Amino acid sequence: MVAFAFAPPPASPEAERLRAEIREFLASELRGRSARARAGSWGSRDPEFSRKMGARGWIGMTWPKRYGGHERTALERYVVLEEVLAAGAPMGAHWVADRQSGPLLLRFGTEEQRQSILPRIAAGECYFCIGMSEPDSGSDLAATRTRAVPVQGGFLVNGTKIWTSNAHQCHYVILFCRTELATGADRHAGMSQFLVDLSLPGITIRPIRDLAGEHHFNEVVFEDVFLPASSLIGALGAGWRQVTSELAYERSGPERFLSTYVLLVELLRALGSQPSERAAIAAGRLTAHIIILRRLSRSVAGMLQAGEDPALQAALVKDLGTTLEQEIPEVARLLIESGSRPTDSYEAVLAHAIMRAPSFSIRGGTREILRGIVARGLGVR
Ligand SMILES: Cc1cc2nc3c(=O)[nH]c(=O)nc-3n(C[C@H](O)[C@H](O)[C@H](O)COP(=O)(O)OP(=O)(O)OC[C@H]3O[C@@H](n4cnc5c(N)ncnc54)[C@H](O)[C@@H]3O)c2cc1C
Repeated sequence: MVAFAFAPPPASPEAERLRAEIREFLASELRGRSARARAGSWGSRDPEFSRKMGARGWIGMTWPKRYGGHERTALERYVVLEEVLAAGAPMGAHWVADRQSGPLLLRFGTEEQRQSILPRIAAGECYFCIGMSEPDSGSDLAATRTRAVPVQGGFLVNGTKIWTSNAHQCHYVILFCRTELATGADRHAGMSQFLVDLSLPGITIRPIRDLAGEHHFNEVVFEDVFLPASSLIGALGAGWRQVTSELAYERSGPERFLSTYVLLVELLRALGSQPSERAAIAAGRLTAHIIILRRLSRSVAGMLQAGEDPALQAALVKDLGTTLEQEIPEVARLLIESGSRPTDSYEAVLAHAIMRAPSFSIRGGTREILRGIVARGLGVR
């Protein structure tokens, strides 16, 4: 009956040695950074910080040295990531490239693409966004309509992508689109992925403001954009298989349960050393859940390191993790109402979390979709 398991992650003394190093770096880099600024988590960007991370060898950590990587383990990478997230460092500029675009190019890209792009990502100087969702295609990615039509020397692209996070501040998008019209029963056939330079003529990036009035989303319109044949990633028509292989990277990391970690820390600070019994129980429960999620998420890192495909486990980690990320502001809000004494800083961090929490269970695959994947894995669907 049990269709999947979470094996304990292997012990990693090297990773623990690295922890001391990254903590020292973060303490110095983030000195004086307010709790509110730290609450931005992986949504906040600072190219200067990304370059420093690159110089320390903390981007592209697991990639081969010949592509600018550092040939370290997935668990070493995990330690860097969780420390950076827990500290609330502004790592958003290099984040998507490090997490999924680089690994995708490493796995499916041409030698030319790897050599020209990966060292720049690892240096913290080259930023990527994800071109999957469209106005009528979010959860149902197979409904993608953006089309790349083969022409002399390459492809001509027309279509619109939406919710493209930080496209206005990135160098490249990994475009997921149709290279053949859908015919027959296989809706997943005829999809391909392209490496697209966002400065190409015919690409228009328009801002979309979120609930908090901030600009990170975009609509990206492609009008007769010519892509040279060398932009194709992997095999023509193999886009579906390739894109789904990105998802374990996208769904299992500590960013899927630490988005409101800074708020939890501020909550504990505000409750002080003599919390009410109710507050102590609530805070203890949230902390215990973080510990369990970390255990599950590190297990997925171990599976990735062993070359397995833990897509199912990753879906479960993301669903449980985003549920917790959303619960933290809710519990924090109720505890304030019950009489604790918030500071201005606590209230600012709480307000920030409340405005963003609804998106946690949408980005990277909605709750219902993830539960569908888990149900299928358990054989109940
Ligand atoms: C903060 C944030 C950042 C994002 N960044 C990017 C990005 O950089 N690049 C990118 O390509 N996209 C991005 N997205 C888009 C995101 O991946 C999509 O919003 C998501 O896939 C859902 O698609 P949709 O909005 O079209 O909703 P829909 O697919 O229309 O879903 C609407 C509702 O119906 C439910 N639903 C849909 N299908 C089913 C089903 N089969 N069974 C049960 N329930 C179902 C969903 O769970 C949801 O509750 C981002 C979204 C957010 C919130």
